[in-house]
Amino acid sequence: IIRQNPMNRYWSALVHDLVPYVPGEQPKLDNLIKLNTNENPYGPSLRALEAIRNATGDSLRLYPDPESDALKAVLAQRFGVEPRQVFVGNGSDEVLAHAFMALLKHDQALWFPDITYSFYPTYCGLYGIRHKLIPLDDNFAIRADDYLPRGDERAGAIIFANPNAPTGSPLPLAEVERIVAGNPDAVVLVDEAYVDFGGESAMALVNKYPNVLVVHTFSKSRSLAGLRVGYAIGDAGLIEALERVKNSFNSYPLDRLAQAAAVASVEDDAHFRNSCAKVIATRETLVTHLHALGFEVLPSAANFIFARHVVRGGAELAKALRERSIIVRHFSKPRIDNFLRISIGTDAQSAALVQALVDILGQET
Ligand code: PMP
Repeated sequence: IIRQNPMNRYWSALVHDLVPYVPGEQPKLDNLIKLNTNENPYGPSLRALEAIRNATGDSLRLYPDPESDALKAVLAQRFGVEPRQVFVGNGSDEVLAHAFMALLKHDQALWFPDITYSFYPTYCGLYGIRHKLIPLDDNFAIRADDYLPRGDERAGAIIFANPNAPTGSPLPLAEVERIVAGNPDAVVLVDEAYVDFGGESAMALVNKYPNVLVVHTFSKSRSLAGLRVGYAIGDAGLIEALERVKNSFNSYPLDRLAQAAAVASVEDDAHFRNSCAKVIATRETLVTHLHALGFEVLPSAANFIFARHVVRGGAELAKALRERSIIVRHFSKPRIDNFLRISIGTDAQSAALVQALVDILGQET
């Protein structure tokens, strides 16, 4: 349909060649059990909601703080870095987009896993970045050795998600450190969108290595996907590069409500830890049920699991769940076509999912 639009003769060659990212469905119906885009079922801190209420009113007339200084200060304190080592953006997608432009575009190829967050190849298309896909190993894990220079071949820059997406598999910190230490001339971006659900963070490396950038989001563990806040932490030189791109693009990425709520969210550590712990407990119970139903489940340190049934296909199971008002994510991609990515919901949602699978698979509980 797009190709037939007579206006597309005005598009640039770049736009013609773009293969846009397709986000998970945000259904308009509200009677569905939505386990398809890794949102957190427990909602944000009440203190964040109160901060939003307090930030509405006459002050919305005024532009927000372009530097988000209050937010950078609380994040710097939390991670033991200086505020000039913190960059904030409108969701970690925007932080990543700026990083691709500022830091990962290089005359050598950018290396990343062949199965990972599908925004990475999209940004490469958008910014004209040459890249090399590194296959996951036979267990769908990232193998650190594959990211080390070999002979004359070395990465211009490296990005991976840890835990990886959509697999959920964690890479131990020692392996991440081998990649960072083994590529001193390349920026290594570790996308830790899901790290708070049991992964080991590379934040421990940012004051030790100038080439590592760690990206986090408020969308998952802090249950603020609707607010759109993400951040990067790394060496001040890397952060300055991101600030330059941001100031050339949108100097006010975070509005007043987002800044206020994000600060309050970081300050409410009890809510954060409690909701992560609940998600992890529900995940472990779900994994046990799925094993009993004949699923193979990849090890997950995320707020989702990636599982395939020994007999039934992924597309077929996703469709059957949808008919029972449960939405999960299925990717029609080689190697992972038989998997379902299932976000961890409440215990009640998880129980409904298991019951629906029992019906579909025709098994007894
Ligand atoms: N990184 C990964 C690996 C993700 O799965 C997501 C969520 N789709 C993001 C980054 C972006 O999250 P957000 O823009 O909501 O911060």
